[in-house]
Amino acid sequence: DTCGLPDGSAGPASPEDTIRPSKLDEFIGQDELRANLRVFLRAAMEQGRALDHSLLYGPPGLGKTTLAQIMASELGVNLVTTTGPVLERCGDLAAIVTNLRRGDILFIDEIHRMPPAVEEILYPAMEDYKLDLIIGQGPGARTVRIDLEPFTLVGATTRLGLLTSPLRDRFGVIFRLEFYNPDELARIVTRAAAILGIGVTPAGARVVGERSRGTPRIANRLLRRLRDFAVVAGAATLDEGLAKEALARLDVDPQGLDQMDRKILEVLIGHYEGGPVGVKTLAVAISEEVRTLEEIYEPYLIQCGLIKRTPRGRVATAKAYAHIKKRMLD
Ligand code: ADP
Repeated sequence: DTCGLPDGSAGPASPEDTIRPSKLDEFIGQDELRANLRVFLRAAMEQGRALDHSLLYGPPGLGKTTLAQIMASELGVNLVTTTGPVLERCGDLAAIVTNLRRGDILFIDEIHRMPPAVEEILYPAMEDYKLDLIIGQGPGARTVRIDLEPFTLVGATTRLGLLTSPLRDRFGVIFRLEFYNPDELARIVTRAAAILGIGVTPAGARVVGERSRGTPRIANRLLRRLRDFAVVAGAATLDEGLAKEALARLDVDPQGLDQMDRKILEVLIGHYEGGPVGVKTLAVAISEEVRTLEEIYEPYLIQCGLIKRTPRGRVATAKAYAHIKKRMLD
């Protein structure tokens, strides 16, 4: 619950699961994606065939896992969930796909982190619903071909560019998830608050929506933290004043940047005169892994126009200077 990394297969009792929308109608935002997905789901159902393999990409916490669950629930099929790094050997994948029933959805999170050998046996499975397994080693080795039930592979990744092109080409549909706007996030907060039994005013929800880095997972997490402040303050509802006060204490600034976001800007500006700075150097300076920096922090800072990725490294924009200066004056 702390870093917003993809969950993998979180247990059924996690706090995220209780507020996860299970039908497409409950899924807020991503309007274009939702409208298209509705068409594809209906077409698959009317023709009685498996949904086309679908790839979901976008920063963590925007709803990829949620959408995979919604697809399964709308189609009335089973969802089997795994993640790329867990599929270490071909046998791991074979064990899963041979157990799928007609129309089932196999969700592979972090699909770009599958070992190449596993990825290769996935190609014929996706294309022809066949699995080619090599039995034995050396001259005695032979290939056996196993027929699979038609299934749908739903892959999730943080960045499209992390996928090999043969894998990418085998998806019939590629959905890109966008950051949510404050209105959508306020609606997500209001919905989650109702499910969790937390009273929140529209202005209170709006404040949370504005400061959630465009990300539902962060909005829901902040909501739970703000509830704690409300409880301790003896307040029955989370209103605008309480929300602002608590967010300030959590060190989330009005633009929704947290400590780490600001540290990135401060390092870029304070230590490297605004850049360009190589991503590795920047990662070391903030004591984070390159992957975390690239997949979790940078996308939102780029979206806000605070930093830019250039061929020579990361650069702070004029807006970043203004933001840091304002923070120092406040
Ligand atoms: P990802 O798989 O992209 O990392 P998740 O699907 O796990 O993200 O979503 C994170 C949390 O945010 C979930 O608990 C879910 O309840 C919530 N969430 C995501 N998208 C939406 C949405 N469009 N509407 C309502 N809640 C959402």
